Amino acid sequence: MAAQLLDGKVMAAQLREEIAQRVAALKAEKGITPGLAVILVGDDPASQIYVKNKGIGCQQTGMHSETIRMPAETTQAALEDEIRRLNADPAIHGILVQLPLPAHLDEAAALAVIAPEKDVDGFHIQNAGCLLNGLPGVVACTPSGALEMIRRTGVDLNGKEAVVVGRSNIVGKPMALLLLQENCTVTVCHSRTRDLAAHTRQADILVAAVGRPRFITADMVKPGAIVIDVGINRVDGKVVGDVDFDAVREVAGWITPVPGGVGRMTITMLLANTLQAAERSAL
Ligand code: NDP
Repeated sequence: MAAQLLDGKVMAAQLREEIAQRVAALKAEKGITPGLAVILVGDDPASQIYVKNKGIGCQQTGMHSETIRMPAETTQAALEDEIRRLNADPAIHGILVQLPLPAHLDEAAALAVIAPEKDVDGFHIQNAGCLLNGLPGVVACTPSGALEMIRRTGVDLNGKEAVVVGRSNIVGKPMALLLLQENCTVTVCHSRTRDLAAHTRQADILVAAVGRPRFITADMVKPGAIVIDVGINRVDGKVVGDVDFDAVREVAGWITPVPGGVGRMTITMLLANTLQAAERSAL
């Protein structure tokens, strides 16, 4: 039997409705409109699309949004000054620096300048440290969106075998930590993993964050598994995931499509993080 589809469009729409209601309540009760500022350096076409979609998300949920466009030749000092200005702006509750930055800029140094309470991407080292220590903080949007999709299967996660393929700071590692918090037994695989398929075949929950088109094939998947495809790859002008969707859906119990899966949830979690930052600012 084909896997049940974990539809990011449907889940994101439900969540955005809830967010819009909370935004309206915050405005009515405290006079605060959550504000998101996105800094876009240069003119990378994919980044332009992501930034546009973030603005649309803010509009849909009643939030204020600003896009600060800076030229590709922006200096590190000018970028950091802009971040500091936004740190001090009370109308802005979330700051996002759209990645990747042009090669001459230091991403880690720029992210470190963002006030941790306004770091709605959850990439600041303080927020990453909070996740590691199980303390409250801002959680990176893609893994928190993926976890929300896993939760919505209704499966009891306690003691489940979870395998995360990919160990990046923005997806793989935080994903593994979130699954650990859910009491899964977590294995993290990467490019040096020996016999990857032997690991993935044990997974009740398999998260692919590799960046290689259709890399996870049906023979690598345990029957009935929850398969979360984080990958976004462009092949012949088409967007495909890291999972060979058509074949894997015949084996898995649940599966996320690409497009229309985790990507939809990512921007929604960014909106949720911005709302939470605004709610905290009112305390
Ligand atoms: P990175 O390139 O930073 O990390 C990729 C990871 O995959 C690395 O840990 C790497 O291992 C591992 N890997 C590469 N080749 C293999 C292999 N042959 N076997 C096992 N592991 C391998 O990518 P990101 O984590 O940033 O992104 C992953 C994917 O998710 C990309 O397609 C990206 O576009 C997508 N993405 C989607 C988002 C969304 O909103 N849906 C948001 C962010 C990313 P090693 O560490 O050893 O090099």
